[in-house]
Amino acid sequence: MALLQISEPNQGDAPHQHRFSAGIDLGTTNSLVATVRSGMAETLPDAQGRHLLPSVVHYRRDGTVTVGAQAKSAAQGDPLNTLSSTKRFLGRGVNDIKRLGTQLPYHFVDGEKGMPKVRTVVGDLSPVEVSSEILKHLHQRLKESVGGEPEGVVITVPAYFDEPQRQATKDAALLAGLNVMRLLNEPTAAAIAYGLDQKSEGVIAVYDFGGGTFDISILRLNRGVFEVLATSGDSALGGDDIDRAIATWIMAQAGIDDDAGHHQMRRLMDDACRIKEELSDREESEFLIEKEDGTFWEGRLNRQQLHRIIDTIIRKTLVPCRRALNDAGIALNRVEDVVMVGGSTRMPRVRQLVGAFFQREPHVAIDPDRVVAIGAAMQADILVGNKPDSDMLLLDVIPLSLGLEMMGGLAEKIIPRNTTIPVARAQEFTTYKDGQTAMAIHVVQGERELVSDCRSLARFELRGIPAMAAGAARIRVTFQVDADGLLSVVAHEAVTGIESRIEVKPSYGLGDDEVARMIQESMAHAREDMDARNLREQNVEADRVVEALEAALAADGEQLLSPQERQAIDDAIAHLRQSQKGSDWSRVKEAISALNRSSTEFAARRMNASIQLALSGQNVDTFGE
Ligand code: AMP
Repeated sequence: MALLQISEPNQGDAPHQHRFSAGIDLGTTNSLVATVRSGMAETLPDAQGRHLLPSVVHYRRDGTVTVGAQAKSAAQGDPLNTLSSTKRFLGRGVNDIKRLGTQLPYHFVDGEKGMPKVRTVVGDLSPVEVSSEILKHLHQRLKESVGGEPEGVVITVPAYFDEPQRQATKDAALLAGLNVMRLLNEPTAAAIAYGLDQKSEGVIAVYDFGGGTFDISILRLNRGVFEVLATSGDSALGGDDIDRAIATWIMAQAGIDDDAGHHQMRRLMDDACRIKEELSDREESEFLIEKEDGTFWEGRLNRQQLHRIIDTIIRKTLVPCRRALNDAGIALNRVEDVVMVGGSTRMPRVRQLVGAFFQREPHVAIDPDRVVAIGAAMQADILVGNKPDSDMLLLDVIPLSLGLEMMGGLAEKIIPRNTTIPVARAQEFTTYKDGQTAMAIHVVQGERELVSDCRSLARFELRGIPAMAAGAARIRVTFQVDADGLLSVVAHEAVTGIESRIEVKPSYGLGDDEVARMIQESMAHAREDMDARNLREQNVEADRVVEALEAALAADGEQLLSPQERQAIDDAIAHLRQSQKGSDWSRVKEAISALNRSSTEFAARRMNASIQLALSGQNVDTFGE
């Protein structure tokens, strides 16, 4: 017989008074909600017993909205009002979407402030609003299952999600009436689901191979602190590629032409997917393939043959694995646990090759489709206070470097990519011109040296800086990224204490493929970027030197220089200006040095003159009485 715990009156917050919370995996294709009950995390099914909610929303003219399987079945009949994969557009700009939009059946239109919207029968809707319908649906399922309002939820996001994408996810949750306690990276959630946080230390690889994407994350546990060291992946590699490879094999075997019609291709892809999934449980699959002319081809495929067809695809996932280990600075043999996430990790061959690569048996006990939601529910349970003795602290990393625009259009990195969050970093800056009273602050994201190659996140101004000589003001700019990966930037002037700040909530974001592209580009262009950076730096320095010298010449040139000396300086300035027209930074640098040499004597004379002036002034004041 089970023992019941009975709550005593006047006991206040008795330890067994359970607080409801939930974890939500808001996926591109499917979403899930999970909660901890009787100490066990479990995903919640709908009335029909289905756990996965297809991330599809259908809008009808009469204003009714359906979500999930029912909405999915409306896609064929009403494609323009049946929205799927909206996660791909969360936090994206109009331009990003236009590029992706060519493959989509529905219309995107420009909304306010660059917010893209989808045109439907009920009006123009933002991806945030559409995603919020999925979250509302899960919220409802949750309330019905647990019989009350959850105190808070944890929502998972891909580790690659940048600021705007995280913010958009939070906004969607807010619209759905959910109290978001934390956004959590998907791989981190998966590791929690396996209870790996209970170990005291170790390095964990989370291998997430789904239908269309592959992600690898390297996590580290250290004295109870759970940290994401690095992430990598391929946003165009997944189970679909395996299906395509099998379909191509079938076509060759069955003598089906390469230019088979769209219908036949679609059917072949479905057949290939079915055969693939069958071979996860069996050694051999037998099947009939219907050709366009109505005849059938009888085929069979065994695991050995399957491996020959798909091994190159699986091995492709090992390239980002190596890259992530490299980024994390972790030797392969230091990885102690490998966690499998995503439907494609059900394939025994995937498990085998990944196990061989990491030299570890991967963790596969939890359903790879539900593992993320389960980990999120476990984390929510802790955050809501059900495990007061748990000291688990989660740290994630920022996917792209955050920095500021400097003079000459250079990007200065304040927080480098893969820094763990939450994090705060400050740097001091100063004014460039005499009497400068305002400073424009431009926050950028990316790996490249030039601002024009990075992504602009926000701009703001610090005003009211007291007029001082160039270089005298002390302006401290602090970047702070909170546990959800949201950035705020504060600029503070030390003398007056004036402050200006901005929360970075731009209206669009980047996708993981773009993050990967930006990182790749920064590597490919490293040399070129350094040259461009040096050139800009030297040009800024040249302008500063010439400006200061011209001001000095205007003030004292006539008294302190002979015509020949003046000519020599003018020639050096002209030479410097000439060098700035080229693209060789070392020539600009040399010309600056030459100008400095030719004006050294002038600078010395000015200094003497000003000292004499000061002394003579002092004589009068101090000794005159
Ligand atoms: P996900 O994006 O994580 O839902 O993964 C979907 C992918 O997993 C699709 O390509 C499915 O065909 C694949 N998948 C699901 N179950 C199996 C299975 N038993 N064997 C092989 N692949 C599977």
